[in-house]
Amino acid sequence: MVCSFCNENECESWMKSYCVDCSMLRRMLVLHNPTECVDILKRCLIRNQEQITNKIKLELKTQDKELNDTSYNTPLPPLTRSKTK
Ligand SMILES: [Zn+2]
Repeated sequence: MVCSFCNENECESWMKSYCVDCSMLRRMLVLHNPTECVDILKRCLIRNQEQITNKIKLELKTQDKELNDTSYNTPLPPLTRSKTK
């Protein structure tokens, strides 16, 4: 039987309706405050449209920087030590 919470994994056992992961989640919710748990998950897992846009911009910026970075092509500066001889 499929878990009635995630609808993905197999149930923990035939007499249980949740899978191992979901049972764990349920126990965590009971142990802590459910509102607090949801708040943590929201902050960690859910991104709003603005956050997604920011993330994309950031990714594009780093990609652009990588493309323009030609420092590996420029020759190394001469050693200044020899001049002080
Ligand atoms: Zn499940």
